Amino acid sequence: MRPTIARVALPVPLDKQFDYLIPSHLFPIVGGRVSVPFGFGKQTLVGIVTAMVNHSEFSQDQLKSIKAVLDDRPVWPDSLYDLLQWTSQFYQYPLGETLANAMPSALRKGKVADFTSSIEWSLTPQGRDKLMQGFGSAVKQAKVMHMLESGPVAHQMFLDEEITNRFLNSLQDKGWISSQEKKPKLQPWPVNIEAAVDKPKLNQEQAIAIATVNSHKEFGCFLLEGVTGSGKTEVYLNMIKPILEQGRQALVLVPEIGLTPQTISRFRKRFNVPVEVIHSGLNDTERLNAWLSARDKVAGIVIGTRSALLTPFADLGIIIVDEEHDASYKQQDSLRYHARDVAVMRANKEQIPIVLGSATPALETLHNAMTGKYHHLILSYRAGNAVPTTNKVFDVKGLYLESGLSAPLIAEMRRHLSAGNQVMLFLNRRGFSPALMCHDCGWIAECKRCDAYYTYHQYSNEIRCHHCGSQQPIIHQCQGCGSTNLVTVGVGTEQLEVQLEQLFPDYKTIRIDRDSTRRKGSLESALSAIRKGEYQILIGTQMLAKGHHFPDVTLVALLDVDGSLYSSDFRASERLAQLFTQVAGRAGRASKPGEVVLQTHHPEHPLLQALLHKNYRHFAEAALYERQTAMLPPYTYLTLFRAEANQSQLVEDFLRQVRHTLEANPLFDRGCLVLGPTPAPLAKRAGKYRWQLLLQTQSRPQMQRLLASSKAAINMLPIAKKVRWTLDIEPQDLS
Ligand code: ADP
Ligand code: ZN
Ligand code: ZN
Repeated sequence: MRPTIARVALPVPLDKQFDYLIPSHLFPIVGGRVSVPFGFGKQTLVGIVTAMVNHSEFSQDQLKSIKAVLDDRPVWPDSLYDLLQWTSQFYQYPLGETLANAMPSALRKGKVADFTSSIEWSLTPQGRDKLMQGFGSAVKQAKVMHMLESGPVAHQMFLDEEITNRFLNSLQDKGWISSQEKKPKLQPWPVNIEAAVDKPKLNQEQAIAIATVNSHKEFGCFLLEGVTGSGKTEVYLNMIKPILEQGRQALVLVPEIGLTPQTISRFRKRFNVPVEVIHSGLNDTERLNAWLSARDKVAGIVIGTRSALLTPFADLGIIIVDEEHDASYKQQDSLRYHARDVAVMRANKEQIPIVLGSATPALETLHNAMTGKYHHLILSYRAGNAVPTTNKVFDVKGLYLESGLSAPLIAEMRRHLSAGNQVMLFLNRRGFSPALMCHDCGWIAECKRCDAYYTYHQYSNEIRCHHCGSQQPIIHQCQGCGSTNLVTVGVGTEQLEVQLEQLFPDYKTIRIDRDSTRRKGSLESALSAIRKGEYQILIGTQMLAKGHHFPDVTLVALLDVDGSLYSSDFRASERLAQLFTQVAGRAGRASKPGEVVLQTHHPEHPLLQALLHKNYRHFAEAALYERQTAMLPPYTYLTLFRAEANQSQLVEDFLRQVRHTLEANPLFDRGCLVLGPTPAPLAKRAGKYRWQLLLQTQSRPQMQRLLASSKAAINMLPIAKKVRWTLDIEPQDLS
């Protein structure tokens, strides 16, 4: 007898699934989509059938019926479906919402899982004749016709160039161009997978790295640690080649900002298989097409940012995570997953190799490599002709700072600018949680109970310890030297921009950060304007450091070094080291050597010394030792509870009860620790008071079991209904 009830995972914030009757004319399948009525109104939701059963805890007349069956095959292959279930459990995020998160939005909205054809334009024979004759003053006509000169062009490309449908139709009416409908075709890949292009002769380290990975047939995780310019991309291409030759596919993840046309074209030029690109800028149709193209093996390679990780593949053979240390791999809302970590789990489930590449590996990854959990591959020299930068520290104790700029730095900037070069200034605003510091002696306000620095809260005009929650009104005198010259460490990029325009009225300044590049395409045009030399002073956050080479930048200055060394976020110093190493690896060129300047009140800081005089690895080893002594990740595992409500007291009380719930759990042992509740660094946002609580455990399984068995109890707390709360498993951002 066929089952009468389907269990459906729906995109609602509840840890449960819902039973629906299966009408006799419908044939749902496990893993496929259905649409169902939900709630008391007329709402319809799209969900995934997780099981088909004959019994429900509800009686038949309480159950509603499925409205429509949307798929005749599962949305994901088994291994990926398994991975999504694991992800839901690991990140304590409801299955229905996790699955919805993993679907392209077209599927989420109930569209058919099939390729949408797209329109392509090409020249007619008359059009070619016309092209020979020229267009006189009809500049726009000439532009369109020349775009088509070397072959068909997608309709979307014209829209991107702000050429309208109407204009294209007018050219069609003249008989110059014609349109065709194009659907991606399932066709076998060519016999020659690799295109006939010039390839560099590999050096020995590259050859070893490639051979090691390619001889590995099952799961294996490889850290490819290679200094900037050491030829990591060349290594990836060589690792992918035999995979494609076996008829299998490759997934390449890059940071949000790493997806430049240059990167994509390097892959497209090298291989004769379709390369699909997946990123957050795609529209619904493009995204669905790319997704299907991977699932149905039209594409050989998928390059994409974080969300591309959850793409289904017909036959995935290797995963590459470039710049694996990058913070953009961690999603900061809804499903707070870390794409690198889930990628390792995916490779494990699919029994394929995964390569994590970086010049500055995350401490977690390095730890895994040093303890033998990951294989460690090293590229120690630069392949190109880049020259090392000169690194300098400016001790700014007692110096007057103009929006964070010291006089020696301003003089240095003048020198480089008047020589016709570009200057780049970095402000790490993401880690913005300022400490209160004496400008004359470098003393920093410190919690007496915690061995931690106080964080300055401008909003409430007080200093607070984020570890024990103790607080006091802002102090006005240094406890080291008695000076009243106390400053907060940390300046915003906007403030700096205004200041620079006054200091250097003859030079043009551009700011690159998440706010200034929100609009689609704005980053690309900013970067090309910089390359053309239209701006001389560049201000940026970390995102300016990634993957972009600016040969005319000869001076790079890191302004906010102390803010990172003394941040309440223990990862801030790691990010500083990564930023420093990345920019030092990219500034200048052989004919124009670069210089990197760090401004600090603490030039003697051991981590800074390790970084300046040795290298990233020395820094990392020192930092790992510090983490171990302080019982921080990767030696322990953290979960962050965040909560917010209209009243501060309510949030604090809720988290206090969460704390009691956790501590009362029999699984909570001596290796566990709860810190807080403390106010969030941004303690009030949009009228809501925000607090947080940090849980620390000795192992991942322990964290998992403890959270799983406490979550229901926390949801039962009466006060839980009055606050909004979320869990961030292994949070990356504590500032
Ligand atoms: P990374 O990804 O490590 O920054 P790339 O792969 O982009 O490095 O390589 C940097 C430059 O060096 C590129 O122009 C690349 O073509 C070149 N290159 C890579 N490997 C070699 C090699 N073995 N010999 C000569 N040039 C190489
Ligand atoms: Zn404290
Ligand atoms: Zn002082």
